Amino acid sequence: MEAAEARSVRQRLESLARAGVTHLPKARRRSPAEPARPAVQAAATPPAGRVEPAGGGERDAALAVLRDEVAGCARCRELAAGRTQTVFGSGRPDARLVFFGEAPGADEDSSGVPFVGRAGQLLTKIIEACTLSRDDVYIMNVLKCRPPGNRPPQPDEVANCRGYFERQLEIIRPEFICCLGASAARALLETEETIGKLRGRWFTHGTAQVICTYHPSYLLRNPAAKREVWEDMKILMGRMGVEL
Ligand code: URA
Repeated sequence: MEAAEARSVRQRLESLARAGVTHLPKARRRSPAEPARPAVQAAATPPAGRVEPAGGGERDAALAVLRDEVAGCARCRELAAGRTQTVFGSGRPDARLVFFGEAPGADEDSSGVPFVGRAGQLLTKIIEACTLSRDDVYIMNVLKCRPPGNRPPQPDEVANCRGYFERQLEIIRPEFICCLGASAARALLETEETIGKLRGRWFTHGTAQVICTYHPSYLLRNPAAKREVWEDMKILMGRMGVEL
């Protein structure tokens, strides 16, 4: 087994272990006549009588399957070789609102959780200023691996991750998506517009209503732009029916 393949298998096993899977069935040799089983099995039907949280249980299971698939991804050689782990997403699997960022940084790469560094702490404050908590929303990025030196995602990397973030959004089915910064907005809306031009307008992605605002990292460098982000949050919360 090649080193990159071994690393990706190890990361997938670590991800399963974090999800509580401690044993895997031994592989059985398949006779040539036997059809291959699909790589991803549908989530098991919950036992009768078990009460699932409203819509969240099935989405949680589907996200766990996708998370494991992402953990073993080696499509972007450079990113897969440099990462500590993939950073999938966090929050409510049935959130009404998704915050969509660019890519993990160093803190996210080492913790496995999106937006936990300085920019993440600012995003947490923004969410709390909207009278919500991180547990009320879902937070995810375009890329699931940290680009070296935190450089912006390359087009081929976005293309490689597109299937993952699109499936993630299909599972969560949010009513609203807030794109944080140009990379996220461009990837989701497949546009080349600047973030300045995209702000203050509504877009759609599938059934979700999309709004774009500045990335929290930009706010760390340009604190004066916090006022504009707050204007965007007021528009978003207004449409969501959240009183500020
Ligand atoms: N910036 C992002 O876009 N995402 C993170 O998770 C952290 C910083």
